[in-house]
Amino acid sequence: MSKDIYQDALKQLDRAAQHSHAEPETIERLRHPQTALEMSIPVRMDDGSLKIFKGYRVRHNDSRGPTKGGIRFHPDVSLSEVKALAFWMSLKCAVVGIPYGGGKGGVIVDPKSLSRLELERLSRGFIEQAVDFIGPLKDIPAPDVYTNAMIMGWMMDEYSKITRTYNPGVITGKPISMGGSLGRDDATGRGAYYCIKELEKKRGWNPSEITVAVQGFGNAGQHVASLLHADGYKIVAVSDSQGAIYRKEGFDVPSLVHAKQSTRKVQPVYCEGTVCEGIPADHITNEELIELDVDVLIPAALENVITTDNAENVKAKVIVEAANGPITADADPILEKNNILVIPDILANAGGVTVSYFEWVQNKNGYYWSLEDVQSKLHNIMRSAFNEVYNIMQEKNIHMRTAAYALAVNRLADAIHAQGTHSYFAEIS
Ligand code: NAD
Repeated sequence: MSKDIYQDALKQLDRAAQHSHAEPETIERLRHPQTALEMSIPVRMDDGSLKIFKGYRVRHNDSRGPTKGGIRFHPDVSLSEVKALAFWMSLKCAVVGIPYGGGKGGVIVDPKSLSRLELERLSRGFIEQAVDFIGPLKDIPAPDVYTNAMIMGWMMDEYSKITRTYNPGVITGKPISMGGSLGRDDATGRGAYYCIKELEKKRGWNPSEITVAVQGFGNAGQHVASLLHADGYKIVAVSDSQGAIYRKEGFDVPSLVHAKQSTRKVQPVYCEGTVCEGIPADHITNEELIELDVDVLIPAALENVITTDNAENVKAKVIVEAANGPITADADPILEKNNILVIPDILANAGGVTVSYFEWVQNKNGYYWSLEDVQSKLHNIMRSAFNEVYNIMQEKNIHMRTAAYALAVNRLADAIHAQGTHSYFAEIS
């Protein structure tokens, strides 16, 4: 993983700046996160020993609203990564027009090595250290890689205990029984799916002729694959951290989901009810999956999987970034030269934060919506954001990522300008 993922992210900002109406001082402001908290989280382990975990919470920019973004538990978490993820959250919320700035958090830990109780103590410890930094009108965490609804529930409970208030709006992605929203579980994958459906109309695709490879079969990857499969798309490859499976004829995705959830492994199976049988498939590496000759490639795991080392070998016609930052800034121009359309992360995976926003609105009002309501509101937001970005791309003849950044930067710039920039003061003096 790149040590300087944040610097890499800023290259994309510089590329987009010339296509936005933001002033240079606004771009400069966006280059620097507002605040970054580094924390040490002491955790009593099951064997009685004490272990200190390093964690971060970054608030990138709150000009458009309280900051919002997930918490990641992963051994490769770094401050640079959390800053990049917080920066992308500012842009993402602006692209889909929801009233938030960007934030992100992370803990350097391999959660698979912890017991359930150790994981709970770590999650509660994170909140203990971050409690003055977060809040429903300040900074609102959510799940990310290797964190889930259960962990969000523990975190909300800890925040409520410390502040002695019932405060569900402090965190989203919670269990439904603790104020979570219907439709949050599949929202990230569903948002990516809605983007693909818009592209399907533009390209006149027949789903049964479209092959798809998904790298990372977790929350985002499983849901986008399931929705596409239900529409007749051919899911020919999926992977997890252990490796990938490939089958030219395509997989029955519900069977893969069942196997992954019951065995924690991606396995080539076909299931009738709960009875699963192995089916023939090739076992390939994650690197080979990225280079498969497919129509749509969906990176849905981690950053930096398409770099200058392999970009030239990518054969997919379209890449949908369900993950954050899977393509490095220097790999982007190579894909562009090869006419590969990239639906960028700040658009393609914005469904998650959009339904998190719905959850927060419902928590504030104490009034809860039906699943149909959530999905139709999400669909409207994703459809209109996709088309706005697509139109800018066509009008300006620029890469889709640059178009999405330009739209986001314009919206951020408008909010920052209204708070007072150099020209704002020049106008009124
Ligand atoms: P997750 O923990 O549910 O799933 C991650 C999956 O990636 C797991 O199946 C894991 O085995 C796999 N994986 C890990 N390392 C891998 C590797 N080197 N190669 C292939 N697979 C690997 O996480 P998630 O929530 O689905 O997040 C995935 C991506 O989507 C991240 O980039 C995250 O930031 C982004 N995202 C998630 C949400 C959300 O709501 N969960 C929202 C927006 C963006």
